[in-house]
Amino acid sequence: MNPVTVITGGSRGIGAATARRLARAGQHIALSYRRDRDAAAAVLADLHATGVRAVAVPADTRDPDQVAALFDAAAELGDLTGLVNNAGVTSPIGPFTDLDPADLREVVDVNLIGYVLCAQQAARRMGGGAAIVNISSAAATLGSPGEYVHYAAVKAATDTLTTGLAKELAPRGIRVNGVAPGIIRTDIHALSGMPDRPDRAAGRIPLGRAGEPDEVAAAVAWLLSPDASYTTGAVLRVAGGL
Ligand code: NAP
Repeated sequence: MNPVTVITGGSRGIGAATARRLARAGQHIALSYRRDRDAAAAVLADLHATGVRAVAVPADTRDPDQVAALFDAAAELGDLTGLVNNAGVTSPIGPFTDLDPADLREVVDVNLIGYVLCAQQAARRMGGGAAIVNISSAAATLGSPGEYVHYAAVKAATDTLTTGLAKELAPRGIRVNGVAPGIIRTDIHALSGMPDRPDRAAGRIPLGRAGEPDEVAAAVAWLLSPDASYTTGAVLRVAGGL
């Protein structure tokens, strides 16, 4: 059977860049998305062009049945060797006192419950040598004051998920790590109401610019690879010095 990686939210941004990078390295890919079918189809075409097997599954990571269906679709491609827990959302940028409870619930549901449901499916199905990468955020340690403190808090929770799962799954030879991006040029900023956030923030980033999705994908690919065979429970910051 062939090695297969599941990438949640693989239709755009960091997830799409990761899917393309892993496919170029010969990984078979099952990616999920929620709404943007055309974006998922475009990524899928790029993956197929590399010669790997790939599927794009409309699966909302908040829903346990849809998550199970995503992993069933991945199983059709081969043995599950990787999971990139990436599907995430922010909410409208603004002061904490204005936070709408529905937005809070959505951030918790997608960024935490979704990660746990996917990690659980992966842990049930993976064998030794497999690896999980949880996409966290530099926000987990910076706190995102005035922007989305609740999102930062949830990202910190995913780092604890990484710590605990790394220890629980280590005896089975499954590694679990996190990647904490800084400000990366994706649609997520427009969706939170500030499309020019990457440019506005450049001045406070030590490297003087926002990051590109490919620069995060490179870190994910390394953590999934045998080159990282002694790395588990780590959260690798990819944030230009933030
Ligand atoms: P993005 O460009 O907005 O893409 C988000 C992806 O997640 C899309 O493929 C989207 O699918 C999918 N998605 C959202 N909710 C989903 C759900 N409930 N079920 C399944 N798929 C869902 O975001 P990004 O910037 O690449 O962010 C990826 C990850 O990196 C997130 O966890 C985010 O918190 C983290 N991060 C991003 C930055 C940054 O500056 N960009 C910084 C730190 C951390 P649809 O297109 O179908 O909606």
